[in-house]
Amino acid sequence: MTTATGNPTQNPDYALDGPAREFLAGPHRLLIGAERPEALDGRTFATLDPASGQEIAQVAHAGPEDVERAVAAARAAFEGPWAALPASARGRLIGDLADAVDAHAEELAQIESLDNGKPVKLAQYVDVLGTAGHLRYFAGWPTKIEGNVLPVTAPNMLCYTRREPVGVCAQIVPWNFPLLMAAWKIAPALAAGCTIVLKPAEQTPLSALRLGELALEVGFPPGVLNVLTGDGATGAALVDHPDVDKIAFTGSTAVGREIGAKAGHALKRMTLELGGKSPNVILPDADIEAAIKGSYQAIYFNSGQACNAGSRLFVPADRYDEVIGALAERAAATRLGPGLDTATQLGPLISAEQRERVMGYIDSGRAEGAELVVGPHPPAVLADSGGYFVAPTLFSVTSDDLRIAREEIFGPVLVASPYDTLEEVAKRANDTDYGLAAGVWTKDLSSAHRLAGMLRAGSVYINNWGGADPAAPFGGFKASGLGREHGHDGLDAYLETKTVWTAL
Ligand code: ADP
Repeated sequence: MTTATGNPTQNPDYALDGPAREFLAGPHRLLIGAERPEALDGRTFATLDPASGQEIAQVAHAGPEDVERAVAAARAAFEGPWAALPASARGRLIGDLADAVDAHAEELAQIESLDNGKPVKLAQYVDVLGTAGHLRYFAGWPTKIEGNVLPVTAPNMLCYTRREPVGVCAQIVPWNFPLLMAAWKIAPALAAGCTIVLKPAEQTPLSALRLGELALEVGFPPGVLNVLTGDGATGAALVDHPDVDKIAFTGSTAVGREIGAKAGHALKRMTLELGGKSPNVILPDADIEAAIKGSYQAIYFNSGQACNAGSRLFVPADRYDEVIGALAERAAATRLGPGLDTATQLGPLISAEQRERVMGYIDSGRAEGAELVVGPHPPAVLADSGGYFVAPTLFSVTSDDLRIAREEIFGPVLVASPYDTLEEVAKRANDTDYGLAAGVWTKDLSSAHRLAGMLRAGSVYINNWGGADPAAPFGGFKASGLGREHGHDGLDAYLETKTVWTAL
């Protein structure tokens, strides 16, 4: 087990290859147009290794003047070289970026694992492969963006529509899947012909900078993809900038509401992918083995730091003890450790602040009378690591009103509860402010699809959890967001429709 000391990139226990070490050695400056400037006021911030709490590197901290420069670069590219490029060339460049991501897969996975804490294999198979997959899917779109000729009533009139890029997009992403969330946003924007100022989260700024470098290397015109590292204030300056046409945000519901209010007032386009408290329902006839395995993954994947985590589990009363017992056994056997240790199954949480938050919820659960079945203390070997570890935690509750049953925890904390009937469980599953995802485990087609129809959520997973594909829309009902990412819907969010009337 690794217990890192000093700069984690110098730690011999960490399996960092040459390319990752070289990148991590820095410097980590902003990416504006073709330039790599320091922040104008010279500020930097530290990005930390969540497995040790040690600093990985200093990163430029963009202020309002840097936002100004980046938006100007994006505007110039939008009106200049990017607009002049044929759709086929745009698609080719996006495909080239996908190839570059594949070619740098190990390097990117190691950077992501170190900066975020997640297991390096997860980074490789989910984050990096997903990034290449999204880019490749959207690489096919530019040549298929078509308008229509419309059968209008007026005689001697040619009326047609054009689908045009929305313009300069501010894309603000979170720390749980830093590279993948960046890809979810940049891929459709690039396909539509937009230009971008991307702002990664302050906890995980590194992989987005590497992605921006790769985009320049494969030949994107400077200014098409700018990367500003910084914090919430950097994000807010981007949201407030009058020359930003669209805001795409993934993050907390609280910040999403704030951004939504501002974008609404300024009448900027927006897509918001926010929080969740997603119900996962096991029906009496389910393949119990598969349901237990899937429900474990649903919550503990990425240490519970997923907006669509299956954080509320509903189990038929007569199977309850069996399911809870099996989940607790799995949870207790989970191997915690640093992401770069290939034996690790569950990495640390992202930050000390996040661990405090999660532990605060665990304390509130106990105080409100929930039964703590397993968790939350990591094994003694990690005690002196300095890392932000929380072990898989399982609560059993009989009330849906507890804070742990209602609020998004964003950590490895599952809240399980028994139920009796399908109607009862559908009602309880929907009794939440959120509506991002929901799951059903059953062999009965009729119950599966009846429940899928009843559940108020943007994605319903039947006999799986977390199915994802660049072609499949993803987004939330209710307080889980606005709009959809991926597929046709995802592309549409970056296009305006223009109607052209020509008297003949
Ligand atoms: P979390 O609470 O999980 O860290 P946040 O919603 O605070 O999630 O952060 C998600 C992203 O939004 C990060 O890139 C962060 O810097 C950015 N951000 C935070 N506050 C604001 C804000 N007021 N305006 C714009 N962006 C913000």
